[in-house]
Amino acid sequence: MENISVAIRFRPPIPSSSSSDLPWTVDSNRITLLAFPVPNLSFTFDHVFDRTSTNATIYGLLVRSLIRSALDGFNGTAFAYGQTSSGKTFTMYGSEDDPGIVPLAVQDVFRTARMSADREFLIRVSYMEIYNEEINDLLTLGSQKLPIHESLERGVFVAGLREEIVSSAEQVLELLKLGEANRHFGETNMNARSSRSHTIFRMVIESSAKDVNSFGDVTSADAIRVSVLNLVDLAGSERIAKTGAGGVRLKEGKYINKSLMVLGNVINKLSDNGKQRGHIPYRDSKLTRILQPALGGNAKTSIICTVAPEEVHIEETRGTLHFASRAK
Ligand code: ADP
Ligand code: MG
Repeated sequence: MENISVAIRFRPPIPSSSSSDLPWTVDSNRITLLAFPVPNLSFTFDHVFDRTSTNATIYGLLVRSLIRSALDGFNGTAFAYGQTSSGKTFTMYGSEDDPGIVPLAVQDVFRTARMSADREFLIRVSYMEIYNEEINDLLTLGSQKLPIHESLERGVFVAGLREEIVSSAEQVLELLKLGEANRHFGETNMNARSSRSHTIFRMVIESSAKDVNSFGDVTSADAIRVSVLNLVDLAGSERIAKTGAGGVRLKEGKYINKSLMVLGNVINKLSDNGKQRGHIPYRDSKLTRILQPALGGNAKTSIICTVAPEEVHIEETRGTLHFASRAK
């Protein structure tokens, strides 16, 4: 479906790993895993990025159009899916040398808004985490377990979530730092937590036409446009058996598997273009409920599936390719 783009991205091998590389070949946007008994496992996606790809390239091919649409009033969602350590956070947030999708999108939004001759923009951001099916506000320390509400005027929304009006990219990047610090607060095992929670960075972009007549009335037909843009760093997709043990870990694993599974089901239904779609199970997880207004309908979605190149990860890689192929 043209509103959904799906890409695979291989991260570079980790130098300390002793595992050999997966035997796979890429032919433009087709990837073939050679490790399987005949026939080889082969998939075609919108893009396949190898280890030499940069975040800027991925942004240009998968996210820029989504940002432009959001500025024109259409909702959009971009997310990174993949096992822990496959490069999701690197793709979304990047490094000093290679800023990720979130900082690139923020800069693009402000640059484009400033250049607009005919519209005036109001931009708000929020930043939240879903951990064990609980929603925590990352911009307000201690603001946890926020409920989801629904109303006629607002549709589905997270009650009490801080929404900050912002006027520059620098201001947003400061808020992201604050959110990251809040997330670490009181955390003894940050790695475990970050691989088990989803983070949603959201921009609400509102614009009004500048053209007013001599009476001060707005003359343009679509005077006000509001759109929502979600940039999502998903929890690790590794299977529950691998997270091992009972207790807390097991509970976490179950929730993640469930919300990622629901996300997969929702996307799969949405991509069933023209066929009988039936019921779309948005309500089956908090993640999909929150994303619902910007997933499906007129909204554009870009899915970046990150995979590790090492042979030891072949089962997880296969799972990720399977998820990705269901989205097409
Ligand atoms: P995830 O968020 O999926 O758990 P990370 O983004 O934290 O994975 O990536 C794991 C490690 O690999 C990090 O040290 C990260 O900097 C590095 N890495 C991931 N992708 C790339 C890439 N494309 N280029 C360079 N380093 C990468
Ligand atoms: Mg991560």
